[in-house]
Amino acid sequence: MELRLYNTLGRVKELFKPIKEGEAGVYTCGPTVYNYAHIGNLRTYITEDIFVRMLKLFGYKVKRVMNTTDVGHLVSDADTGEDKMEQSARREGKSAWEIAKFYTEAFFRDYKSLNCLMPDVLCPATEYIQEMIDLGLVLEGKGYTYSIAGDGLYFDTSKLPDYGKLAGKAHIDGIREGARIEANAGKRNPTDFAVWKFAAPEEKRQMEWASPWGRGFPGWHMECSAMAMKHLGETIDVHWGGEDHVAIHHTNEIAQSEGATGKPFSHYWMHARFLVVGESGKMSKSAGDFLTTSSVPERGYDPLAYRYYCLLTHYRKQLEFTWEGVEAAARGLDGLRALAARIKAEAAGQVTAADREAKYFKDFSAALADDINTPAALAVLWETLKDASIPAPQRLAFAVAAEEITALDLFKINEEQALPAELAALIKEREAARKAKDFKKSDELRKALSDKGVLIEDTSGGTKWKLTRG
Ligand code: AMP
Ligand code: ZN
Repeated sequence: MELRLYNTLGRVKELFKPIKEGEAGVYTCGPTVYNYAHIGNLRTYITEDIFVRMLKLFGYKVKRVMNTTDVGHLVSDADTGEDKMEQSARREGKSAWEIAKFYTEAFFRDYKSLNCLMPDVLCPATEYIQEMIDLGLVLEGKGYTYSIAGDGLYFDTSKLPDYGKLAGKAHIDGIREGARIEANAGKRNPTDFAVWKFAAPEEKRQMEWASPWGRGFPGWHMECSAMAMKHLGETIDVHWGGEDHVAIHHTNEIAQSEGATGKPFSHYWMHARFLVVGESGKMSKSAGDFLTTSSVPERGYDPLAYRYYCLLTHYRKQLEFTWEGVEAAARGLDGLRALAARIKAEAAGQVTAADREAKYFKDFSAALADDINTPAALAVLWETLKDASIPAPQRLAFAVAAEEITALDLFKINEEQALPAELAALIKEREAARKAKDFKKSDELRKALSDKGVLIEDTSGGTKWKLTRG
C-alpha cells in the first residue's frame, strides 16, 4: 500500500519512498529528563508509536532511534541560562546524574503504560560526548563555527545558504528581526546556536567534559545530529518530534548535519501538533504546572483510555485536553473491548488468511496510509466490529490485526461489560441485601450466582466477583 506522509519540509503530503527498499530508519527526539513527562509530550510519543507500528504492518523493517536529553538543554532557547538538569538537581537536592536516572526511568514507565514500543536504540546524550565533539570538529574544519570568549563555540547560520528551510523563510526572518541581540551580544546572527558551551571558570558543573575548545558541555542540538547519523547513517528516512521543534531544534539539527556532510539529513520531517490545556493552553515542564500520565489512573481511568483519546484526533490537529474527553474515551474503549470479547467468544478461533483480504482491512490500512489518519481508522474498526453481517471469525481476525496498531488492549476483558445484565443485577441485589444486613437473602443470592458460574468474595474493599467458567 502506498504511504503518504505530510512532510514539514515542503509542507505537502508526499509518497513515502525509503532509502532502502522495505526498510525505514526513524529518529525521534526523546524527552529532556529533568522532570516527569507531561501528557502533551506523550501525545507526541503515542503518535510516533502508531507510525512505527504502521510501518511494520506495511512490511517495513524499522530501525527506530530515540535519545534522552540528559545534558545541555538550557533554560533559554537562546543558549543562555542554566542547564535544566543542573537546575533540577539543585531544586531536588540530588546529583544531575541521579536526576537523569530517576526521570528516565519514570518516563519509560509512563511510556510503557501507554503501550508504546521501546525504540530499537536508546541513546542518552551523555554517552555520546565524543561523537558530538567529532561533529563539532568537522564543522570547525569546514569553517562553520566561531568562538565567543567565555561563552562557547557557535554555528554561524549565515554560512549555510538554505538555513531555516524547515521553518520557512518568513519565520526565520521574524526571528532575525525580533531578536534581542543583547541576549547574547557575541553572536554574529540571532539564529546562531551553540555547538559547545564552555563551563564558566569559576563554576564546577556536575556534567562537564574536556574538549579541543575547553572544558564544557555540548549544545543541545548536537546530540540528535550525532546520534542519528551514528545509528542511521548520514541521511535518514524520517525524523519526528513535536511542533515546537520545527523552528529551532530541528532547524539547527539540519544545519549541523547538512553543514558537516553536504547531504540531506532526513528525507521526511514529521511533527505532532501540541496538546493544550485550559485557557493559557500551555503546560510547562519547567514551571511544574502540568498533568503527568499518572494523573490518568489517579482519576480512575485506564492509561490506555488516554491513548485512545489521543487517537481520536489526527496528529496534525491541536488537541484541546479535557477530562470530559478522557471520560468519553474511557467509555468508548470499554465498549470496544466488550465488542471484542463477544466476537472472540463467538468466533471460536477460526480465522483464515482470506479474511485479511476483506474490504475493512483495506479501509483501515488506507486510513493509516493517508498520513496516519487514526480517527478514520478507528471509525472503520468500530463499524466492522459492530457489523453482525460479517462472520465473527472475520471480525476477530480484523480486531487482532487492528490491535497490532492501536495497542489498546482490545482483548483485555472488562468483566463488568462482559457479564450478562441478569447476573450483574443479581450481584447488585446481593450487595443491597448485605448492606441491609439481610444475610439470609445475601447467602441465597451468593448460592444462586455460584450456580450460574459467578464466584462472590467479600473483601474490605467491597464485593468482588469472578467467573468460574467462561
Ligand atoms: P521535551 O522533553 O521538552 O524535550 O519534549 C519531548 C517531546 O514532547 C518533544 O518531541 C516535544 O516536541 C514534545 N512536546 C512538548 N510539549 C508538547 C505538547 N504540549 N504537546 C505535544 N507534544 C509536546
Ligand atoms: Zn532532537
